Amino acid sequence: MNLILFGAPGAGKGTQGALLASRYGIPRISTGDLLRQAVSEGTALGQKARKYMDAGELVPDSVILDMVCEVVKGDGAREGFILDGFPRNVPQAEALDGMLCALGKSVHAVAVLDVADDVVVKRIAGRRSCPSCKAVYNIYYEPPRTDERCDNCGSALTQRADDREETVRRRLQVYRDQTEPVLAYYRERGTAVLLVRGDRSVDEVQAELVSSLVS
Ligand code: AMP
Repeated sequence: MNLILFGAPGAGKGTQGALLASRYGIPRISTGDLLRQAVSEGTALGQKARKYMDAGELVPDSVILDMVCEVVKGDGAREGFILDGFPRNVPQAEALDGMLCALGKSVHAVAVLDVADDVVVKRIAGRRSCPSCKAVYNIYYEPPRTDERCDNCGSALTQRADDREETVRRRLQVYRDQTEPVLAYYRERGTAVLLVRGDRSVDEVQAELVSSLVS
């Protein structure tokens, strides 16, 4: 199965994608994760990407496409893949079609996790993590016992640069302007676009995703 997991930042694509990947035994390919890894390793690609990510803007297609092509072509993706965070605009969707066509493959479905903007902002802008033991909190949903300090080790919690509220709002705007048109692109081509309500429990969303994929 070649699946695109679609939705605004904070819609739950990472969580749901990881569950689907283990259920179907295929890799989840997250361009955001690949970029963050490149940034933390300080590679040339990471250095180029960082300023766009911190500002909530899309990283240029030229940086993204080679990275995705390598993974989609790789042995790990032979039985299928789940793309998370890609394609993010229509030119990326066109480029993906070109890559897959050259491999004799296609996109089987696009699953959209639908979540209201206010929920997304609380999920992302509320996120804090511990730089020492890597524990993750949310100041709205799973706050630490002591103000912004890790329950496990007492370190001061930190927030990712692109998780700040103004950046989250920019990321949402970019999603509406550049990413949502990708859905019309797939609908016009007759690819199944499956809408799933993403504002429920992880298990409920997963169950609906799985049932919409088999039907
Ligand atoms: P994510 O974790 O998917 O929300 O991605 C975090 C950031 O990485 C985004 O705000 C973009 O700056 C960048 N990014 C991730 N995937 C893409 C993509 N397909 N195209 C352009 N930029 C991307």
